[in-house]
Amino acid sequence: MNDNPIRKVLIVGGGTAGWMTAAALSKVLKTVQITLIESDAIATVGVGEATIPPINTFNQLLGLDEADFMRQTRASFKLAIEFVDWTRLGHRYLHPFGGFGLDIEAIKFHQFWLKAQSQGSTQPIDDFNLSATAARLGRFMLPSKDPGQVLSSLKYAFHFDAGLYARYLRRFAEGLGVVRREGKVVDVTLRGEDGFIDSVTLEGGHVETADLFIDCSGFRALLIEGALKTGYEDWGHWLPNDRAVAMPCETGGDGLTPFTRATADSAGWRWRIPLQHRTGNGYVYSSRHISDEDALARLRATLDGPARAEPNFIRFQAGRRNQMWVKNCVAIGLASGFLEPLESTSIHLIQAGITKLLALFPDRGFDPVETAEYNRLSILQTELIRDFIILHFKANERTDSDYWRAAREMEIPESLQRKIDLFAARGRLFQSDYDLFAEPSWVAVLLGQNIRPRNYDPLVDTLDEQVVRGQLERLSALVRRTAEALPTHEAFIARYCAAPDFEKTA
Ligand code: FAD
Repeated sequence: MNDNPIRKVLIVGGGTAGWMTAAALSKVLKTVQITLIESDAIATVGVGEATIPPINTFNQLLGLDEADFMRQTRASFKLAIEFVDWTRLGHRYLHPFGGFGLDIEAIKFHQFWLKAQSQGSTQPIDDFNLSATAARLGRFMLPSKDPGQVLSSLKYAFHFDAGLYARYLRRFAEGLGVVRREGKVVDVTLRGEDGFIDSVTLEGGHVETADLFIDCSGFRALLIEGALKTGYEDWGHWLPNDRAVAMPCETGGDGLTPFTRATADSAGWRWRIPLQHRTGNGYVYSSRHISDEDALARLRATLDGPARAEPNFIRFQAGRRNQMWVKNCVAIGLASGFLEPLESTSIHLIQAGITKLLALFPDRGFDPVETAEYNRLSILQTELIRDFIILHFKANERTDSDYWRAAREMEIPESLQRKIDLFAARGRLFQSDYDLFAEPSWVAVLLGQNIRPRNYDPLVDTLDEQVVRGQLERLSALVRRTAEALPTHEAFIARYCAAPDFEKTA
């Protein structure tokens, strides 16, 4: 029995990060007292509505009823991200969830596809991915649990309303005993002997102490930076976007697509995230290349329908905190750093932070070995995601603006250059431990951004060409038939998890 356990955890901040952390910790740490402080006077960032498939693991950890969670947060399903105009104007491709085809005799499926292309085939690789094919057709169904069915290969995540998601998790966490305290933190007191955080003081004088402090205060980073002065590594030279403007609108346009759309623009890119009751939109841009007014004008001009709220301007600096865990303080969410919303990785990094914290949960001795491991893994995960995101900007052929020319000409991390060079030779990729993006994601974006391997893996030629060609034909036909048999995304939502204000377009 540990005689030095953590007895109290204090979470500062009640955005997505704060409430996800409160929900997960209260579910797992049954004997620890958890308090969350948030201030109604300080708004949450209010965006962050697209997720990636690992969120299903988080939902399972909490034991959520998926249909109820979707109804309460007005969620829709997400099977892919569609990238429009990224490679060059007029071009589009999907980064779908899940893999392409099936490996044959340990040779990667995309190698067979590359050989077929070299022999004149024009069949898109998406034809071998069920999530991509269903996304293009606007269809959805929950995956089969039978691994023998093609439908088992469907991978999905969610689009949801960020404000409703925080509220939903708040109810969940409060139901498990988390105490919410309203108030603005105005001071942080450090212990004289070791510089650990002793307490935070709220406006009005109330003082909260704890053994472990979790900084979920967003870009303010009140504890990890404000009090502990950790420092920040700026990645602006690779990820030049430093502003965003968000503006939801009425449902319209292509309606309830089961995918996020990311459209490249002259000085950044726009997102479109369809929810049950509205569509989320935003323009992420570089302030060196476009003014706030022009960014807003470009966003407004592309909305599917009338705006549902005033524009929400957000400033950020791409990068990461030098350390995410310092002494008795762990930063989770925007307080720990922020890359780019492009591949919807930020909510995932919250989840990854919570998972690592639970796996390395300390006692009041705070063993520096565990703190160091948490930081090492967090930095590794963030840098791997950083490289993947940079790829989208670097590998472009656009000639219409300085923004895209500069992105193409920038020096990139050596780790990414090596990956691109290896793929460009014979389509080979090696998955790093802790890379959130598995090989099929890299294949989708490398090919999507028009990095075409000069050759394919010679091992492909060791297999009978006719047999392989037959397998490819059967597989793509099966994927197509399976996707066509699914209900539309809209019909599935109507039946499974429709909220009272669900806006049907058909
Ligand atoms: P915040 O939402 O800013 O919450 C901070 C909290 O701290 C608030 O509750 C506030 O009241 C509290 N607080 C601050 N100061 C004090 C104080 N002094 N006293 C008391 N309380 C205080 N992520 C994705 O995964 N998918 C996406 O599609 C996506 N899109 C994004 C688009 C943009 C433009 C941006 C900027 C981010 C996006 N993200 C996305 C990231 C995502 O929004 C965040 O990861 C997520 O919202 C978590 O934010 P947070 O809780 O860390 O911070």
